[in-house]
Amino acid sequence: MSRNALITGASRGIGKEIALLLAKERCNVIVNYNNSKKEAEELVEFIKQNYGVEAYSFKADVSSEKEIDQLVDFAYSKFKNIDILINNAGICIDKEVADRTVSDFLKTFSLNLFGVFYLSKIIGKRMFESKFGKIVNISSNNSINGFYPTTIDYDASKSALNSLTKNLAVEFSPFVNVNAVAPGWIDTDMNKELLTEDIKEMESERILKKRIGSPRDVAEVVSFLVSNKADYVDGQVIVVDGGMF
Ligand code: NAP
Repeated sequence: MSRNALITGASRGIGKEIALLLAKERCNVIVNYNNSKKEAEELVEFIKQNYGVEAYSFKADVSSEKEIDQLVDFAYSKFKNIDILINNAGICIDKEVADRTVSDFLKTFSLNLFGVFYLSKIIGKRMFESKFGKIVNISSNNSINGFYPTTIDYDASKSALNSLTKNLAVEFSPFVNVNAVAPGWIDTDMNKELLTEDIKEMESERILKKRIGSPRDVAEVVSFLVSNKADYVDGQVIVVDGGMF
């Protein structure tokens, strides 16, 4: 049976890879984007041509309640049920603690936490009513080993996201599985400036797998969590960082 999935921030990076993998595994997908319209439309065309599933792109800033409402209306106009929700969209702004403001915190939290709460609240309720659903939140290993003061707000938002994940798992039990995946270093645009070749080499040394992760490394774990193989995994934060301590 094919499932219907909504992936936020799926125009690039980890979200794109998740959309590709779920579509390959016979899910219909809604590719949410904010700025990268062309990338999202190209991804949808690629998915339709290569995997023969239904695919749609939809622009919505998922830090805005109003735009989340529009995204939800669009999603349920295309599909009777949303079976899988991947809360992937996130931002991380590097800044010294001394320069960091409460407004910076609010911006980061609006997307990384508040938007996830609002979208999950609406879709989770409908999943519960249909007696099936899988929600995966993309957290970060910074939520557990948060030792980068230049991302102090990001780390706090992801720690809060882990807590939100567990509470939502309780709220929507027993029909909806809510889990989080906490990646380590993943090679995407998010780290484009930070991860120079030198830094990559240095960071790889302290990772047990001796390499920076790929979006596919994360997508594979998400694919497992939304499959029936993970029906008994609920309220968990799964770290995918190649082994970093
Ligand atoms: P990325 O390459 O910067 O891509 C970010 C994606 O999020 C883009 O598709 C972007 O869409 C979308 N996005 C940003 N703001 C949005 C908004 N307001 N509304 C809707 N979509 C929005 O990032 P990534 O590395 O793939 O990260 C994906 C997730 O993994 C994030 O939650 C991040 O915190 C987490 N993560 C990443 C790493 C890492 O090392 N890369 C590690 C741990 C956790 P547009 O371009 O269309 O605006």
